[in-house]
Amino acid sequence: MDAWARADLDALDARGLLRRTRRVEGLAGPRMRVDGHDVLMLAGSNYLDLAGHPEVLRGAREASDAAGGAAGGSRLINGNLALHEELEAALACFAGTEAALVFSTGYMANLGVLTTLASGPDDVIVSDELNHASIVDACRLSRAEVRVFRHDRPEDLERVAAGLAGFRRRVLITDGVYSMDGDVARLGELLPVARAHEMTVVVDDAHGLGVLGEQGRGACELGGVEADVVIGNLGKALGSFGAYVACSSVVREWLINRARSFIFTCGLPPAPVGAARAALRVLEREPERRKQLLERAEQLRAGLGDAGYDTGRSSSQIVPAIVGDNARVMALCEAALGRGVYAQGIRFPSVPAGTERIRFTPICAHTPGQIDQVVELFRELR
Ligand SMILES: *Cc1c(COP(=O)(O)O)cnc(C)c1O
Repeated sequence: MDAWARADLDALDARGLLRRTRRVEGLAGPRMRVDGHDVLMLAGSNYLDLAGHPEVLRGAREASDAAGGAAGGSRLINGNLALHEELEAALACFAGTEAALVFSTGYMANLGVLTTLASGPDDVIVSDELNHASIVDACRLSRAEVRVFRHDRPEDLERVAAGLAGFRRRVLITDGVYSMDGDVARLGELLPVARAHEMTVVVDDAHGLGVLGEQGRGACELGGVEADVVIGNLGKALGSFGAYVACSSVVREWLINRARSFIFTCGLPPAPVGAARAALRVLEREPERRKQLLERAEQLRAGLGDAGYDTGRSSSQIVPAIVGDNARVMALCEAALGRGVYAQGIRFPSVPAGTERIRFTPICAHTPGQIDQVVELFRELR
């Protein structure tokens, strides 16, 4: 077995695709330690700086003190805590839906939702070509027919949708914000096409939640549309861990009965539930966090553009600098780390060849001066 592993790893290495983990230390925030370097952290999803927020940490502690370290089992056996239900009520209220159901991760929420909504070859899932890997896996696991449309192109969705007449259930799934490019799905144009073809619409808004829209409700609020099901994440802007599905009461009951990634796994422990509940309060009370985050992202985008980088389609807090070569991306990333900035290098095949990039994700707590520092460093490194 070790020989198989060695051969496969060597093959990845030969193509410049070997991945490795980095060692991160320090309280979550704008500055952290990565592989022994003090850095500005621009590679995380702690967008609203809530992961280290005292009120959020207190929420985690109080939930643990009251209920212990673990849910102790599946939500369907002994692990359905009052804390879960309280958080779900608050999330439904925030999302403006009848109900919400917490899953252990966003990956598992996508598996559960898509395999429930589409459950065999009579059903069809229509998926944007750049959707998150967990959606791709969920499509496969559903055993439904899968049709892919060109990224964020309503006219291509129309072309695909026109060929779906014979299917029992038709499901459109799209990310709200695209994690590699930072562009926001044009939901205002995609949804009318879906509606005209009687498709159920699911939006995975992992990056949009808490960031986009007047109330921070995400890409749907920004686009002025309502999806049938919205999947939100507790581990990104909310600074905790886990995910939820905002939906009708009957769909919630359906998921509890059918979604295997909900049924056959342990419920979320008290600490992240308490943290998410507290984070939601801060998020609702302090809209300036998302305003500031988007200002920093705009400053970064403008600065990198001025320094000669192509920032592509980005219009959110995710800002890529497209470099176009795996080796160059990794060299830039390492050089930046050594000089106090950590941003993630993203290589082919995670993105198309020729568009390899550094991906920056600032958080609201970065100061304008720190953003300038990042821009100046990358201007020099270029
Ligand atoms: C991060 C992310 C997920 C996965 O969420 P986890 O809670 O980390 O499993 C799913 N979909 C999208 C679009 C994401 O960005």
